[in-house]
Amino acid sequence: MGEWVRVTRGAPCPICRKPDWCTVAGDGTAACCMRTESDRRMGNGGWLHRLGRDLLGAPARAAGPPMARRYLSAEALGKTWARWAYSTTDAQVDGLAGRLGVSAEALRVLGLCWAWPHEAWGFPMFDGDEEFAGIRLRSDDGDKWALRGGRQGIFIPQVEPQGETLIVEGPTDAAAAATLGFHALGRPSCNGGAREIAAYCRRHGIKRVSVLADNDSPGIKGARALCGQVGLPARLMVLPAKDLREWVRNGGTRQAVEACLAVHRWNV
Ligand SMILES: [Zn+2]
Repeated sequence: MGEWVRVTRGAPCPICRKPDWCTVAGDGTAACCMRTESDRRMGNGGWLHRLGRDLLGAPARAAGPPMARRYLSAEALGKTWARWAYSTTDAQVDGLAGRLGVSAEALRVLGLCWAWPHEAWGFPMFDGDEEFAGIRLRSDDGDKWALRGGRQGIFIPQVEPQGETLIVEGPTDAAAAATLGFHALGRPSCNGGAREIAAYCRRHGIKRVSVLADNDSPGIKGARALCGQVGLPARLMVLPAKDLREWVRNGGTRQAVEACLAVHRWNV
């Protein structure tokens, strides 16, 4: 039967037609569906369904109209996150912290959870009102995707800022900043999250922001645009490494970050 391959949006489960959680045998002879029962329960909690080889790659069964695009509510996302977060052990967090080169505490304040149905780490994303907007998923290999039904949002540490914040790209760079003792918000990408960041800063009395750009041209372009969008004094620093986490891994300290920031001017 060979290896089991996880289903995707492009190649959904042949049994339940969903794009996640289920797996299909590499040779296409069987599916392990996590949602639809059969008479054979598998060790991972799913059910075995024998497939004719021709089922794979066949067009979706005509089972009614295509699903409308629907978003999960903040409440549903919060419950999902809580279920995963409260079953995530300190040992799991410590393990990931060691592999990423950040502190376990930094991962916890960013809401890290083990999203077991996806076999991935999860970081909650928030909208401008600090409500749950979505959950970013990240495999141990560093592949990134988002929980289906969620939206993009920003990564927010559950720590009160003291008048200033750093803005970085992604949850692991926000964790790298928190590891050095900075308050930092994470953008979902090099050019998202401006509105949510501006709203957060207003609500928390932040007076000025330092935007740390990943050292590539989309990163620098996105950071420059953000400086003009937050509505506060801002300064831009291009990181001397691929990203902040790499800098921290290579020995970057709080003093080094502050020294580099100090040579950059505020834009107002
Ligand atoms: Zn399935």
